[in-house]
Amino acid sequence: MTSVATFMQSVNVHHDRAKPMIQSDTQTPLRNTSWQRQLATAIRTPEELCDLLDLHQDTLPQSKTPTRSFPFLVTRSFVSRIHKGDPHDPLLLQILPRDLEDKKTEGFTADPLQENDHVTAPGLIQKYAGRALLMLTSACAINCRYCFRRAFPYADNGVQTSKLNEALHEISRTKSIHEIILSGGDPLLVSDERLQSVLQQLSTIPHLRRLRIHTRLPVVLPERVTDTLITMLATTRLATTVVIHANHAQELDDTVEKAMHKLRHSHSILLNQSVLLRGINDSADALATLSERLLEIGVIPYYLHLLDRVSGTSHFEVDQQTAKKIHTALQNRLPGYAVPRLAQEVPGAPAKHWIG
Ligand SMILES: *Cc1c(COP(=O)(O)O)cnc(C)c1O
Ligand code: SF4
Repeated sequence: MTSVATFMQSVNVHHDRAKPMIQSDTQTPLRNTSWQRQLATAIRTPEELCDLLDLHQDTLPQSKTPTRSFPFLVTRSFVSRIHKGDPHDPLLLQILPRDLEDKKTEGFTADPLQENDHVTAPGLIQKYAGRALLMLTSACAINCRYCFRRAFPYADNGVQTSKLNEALHEISRTKSIHEIILSGGDPLLVSDERLQSVLQQLSTIPHLRRLRIHTRLPVVLPERVTDTLITMLATTRLATTVVIHANHAQELDDTVEKAMHKLRHSHSILLNQSVLLRGINDSADALATLSERLLEIGVIPYYLHLLDRVSGTSHFEVDQQTAKKIHTALQNRLPGYAVPRLAQEVPGAPAKHWIG
């Protein structure tokens, strides 16, 4: 590995050169950094996607027009990893709006996680001991059809710059919080400048020891892993962990690998969480391949979540018994550290429920 000192020097040189290009806030519509320009070219209609992938709408599995409340959105980078002409591609199925989303299924509701009960300040959610989520934005760079965001009005809960002080005050007041988890939406969609400012303020709170970032951007927009981000994470006094979100090995191409290698220079612990999804990764083969690929790029599998039962997602559900079987098969063929914990979010429980 390159020595960090050398690496940071090169980072700084590069940073200074890049500085005039960077805008001060995500609220501004200007998108001048490379990743922001990439984001501006994201694909926003299934028709455009089909053109790029040589797919005919009528060969797709019951596709439908997405609703305005949860529109179609995907980065070109993610699309470049979808196999052309395959209507059952595991990446395509994560983003393609389907008729099945309209199906009403018992037990699937708008807010299965009941997070509203745990909002202690604007953008701050504390459910579990010692750690709290800080939602920096409600936006994502990709709309994953299985996501709980599709039904939960996160727009109300992303912390506005003006409200951040209230959340920071609550964190300062709550001495039992040792870890802040930046979440969203995708917290890395905010600019490096805003992130730096949030980090700076968090690091002055004496009882905070750790910072965790839950983000899908290193996977769906690897350019987001900027030199500035690395420097920021490497230099904060807080111990840092970055949890990425990939569900299938095919998502992890060489651009993601490069981004993860770069992230390792930040001295962060790198973890992955996945959701167990029917027709996408619901086999020991698919999950073993994912784990092997994660380890190859320096990432430890952390959680394999059972689907949160949000309205419109029942077609993705894998039942608990099947999930356990797949998980046991995975345990029987991989080293322990390569097996993610099979977990489920249970409202009101003091921790995520580990199954099996
Ligand atoms: C998942 C989650 C966490 C983090 O849980 P870990 O088990 O520490 O990964 C914290 N807060 C909320 C609200 C969560 O949903
Ligand atoms: S929060 Fe994560 S899973 Fe949900 S839409 Fe955004 S990137 Fe996808």
